[in-house]
Amino acid sequence: MLHQVKKSKKKTDDRKNFIMPVYGSRDLEEPIPKYSMPEGSIDPRHAYALVKDELMLDGNSRLNLATFVTTWMEDEARQLMTDTFDKNMIDKDEYPQTAELEDRCVHILSDLYNVPDESEACGCSTTGSSEAAMLCGMALKWKWRDRMKDKGKATDKPNLIISTSVQVCWEKFCRYWEVEPRFVPVSDGHYSMKTADVIKACDENTIGVVAILGTTHTGEFEPVEKYNDALEKFNSETGYEIPLHVDAASGGFIAPFLTPKLKWDFRLKWVKSINVSGHKYGLVYPGVGWAIWRNTEELPEDLVFRVNYLGGEMPTFALNFSRPGNQIVAQYYNFIRLGREGYTRILQSCMDTANFIKESLEETNVFQSLIPKLHMPLITFRIKKDIKVDFDVFQISEMLRHRGWLVPAYTMPENCEDDEVLRIVIKEGMSMDMAHLLMKDMKRILQKFEEEPDKLKSTKGTLKQC
Ligand SMILES: *Cc1c(COP(=O)(O)O)cnc(C)c1O
Repeated sequence: MLHQVKKSKKKTDDRKNFIMPVYGSRDLEEPIPKYSMPEGSIDPRHAYALVKDELMLDGNSRLNLATFVTTWMEDEARQLMTDTFDKNMIDKDEYPQTAELEDRCVHILSDLYNVPDESEACGCSTTGSSEAAMLCGMALKWKWRDRMKDKGKATDKPNLIISTSVQVCWEKFCRYWEVEPRFVPVSDGHYSMKTADVIKACDENTIGVVAILGTTHTGEFEPVEKYNDALEKFNSETGYEIPLHVDAASGGFIAPFLTPKLKWDFRLKWVKSINVSGHKYGLVYPGVGWAIWRNTEELPEDLVFRVNYLGGEMPTFALNFSRPGNQIVAQYYNFIRLGREGYTRILQSCMDTANFIKESLEETNVFQSLIPKLHMPLITFRIKKDIKVDFDVFQISEMLRHRGWLVPAYTMPENCEDDEVLRIVIKEGMSMDMAHLLMKDMKRILQKFEEEPDKLKSTKGTLKQC
């Protein structure tokens, strides 16, 4: 109110005196509180400028080589997403066609993952793999509890077999849903669970084993088929029915295209559910993910809610209620736009770029990849163990950041925490040309360290340039 009075008085003055109303405006002369709601309103253009300017301090998402999440989509996809921002995917009765597209995506993924019976395709969209992990984990817990009840056994000590290299969502699942996490250690040079260790950790209270298709640390595909065969033997010997869940957050959109013969999905008997992130190599902006079950039997009925507030009665299984529908629309767009051929081409090109970077890093004679052959377009590398240098990976990460490249440095999980590594994830939008520029910057940094080691060392943490 106050503001409007002020504005109408000054309106003509403002027009006359300021060519850049955004920066010259009276509105911005008065400080706007950051942590409490301002009393008055401001012009939308000013609000836009204020927020947008502040966000300039964020990293450039296109140079963000830390994330697996999509940072580039083509204009038509952006347009379609903008067109459908206003649709709430939960309003299935009001937006039946968005619901239909979600359903088609579930079918497409079920088919891609070779469900035994397409007519029993069963799954849902989520906000990402984390929510999908919660849903699939709950289904595992519920199924296990039913089996135990049938046998008249106690159901108070469920456990889940996971690798120490597991993504944090599985630790969250265990804590939130009161399941004991049984960690199977990975070791230096061997970053996936050993089959024998997996079986050793299992008992009658095991609700499932999580296999990772594309680990967060090294991008390796765990040997799902080996786990399956070992579980087949173990289950038949013990009478247990311990299932496998595959966390295919990134690998679920890579393996079907680049290694279609690799058996990791519902072709394997004990794989009962799969999670995948649509916003990783599904190539959609965040956040969309998918939970897919082998068939309807694997999703206990009492986890599904049927609500009719919005007209019609819709079965839903989700932690959220309202959620944007436009990411589902974009996922469907990608499926029909790219097809198998398009996904294969894009992923192959990401792999080529990743392999180029891996080779260039190894040519420096300073770095080595943690694994000899990449499974995904992701390179985790360390400073060679047999050389002595005056810098560490954290300084390299810092210096790359001065050029805008966001390349994280971190320590590997328990058992191999001596390994300090850098990780580069290649996504669509990181061209070979940009990869060349990255490697040029990397070589310049190494040269700088060689020429001025003392100077660089003394300014550790606040390096100004490279
Ligand atoms: C990214 C990732 C997750 C979490 O996925 P979000 O979609 O970010 O919630 C889980 N597991 C693995 C292996 C991942 O790479």
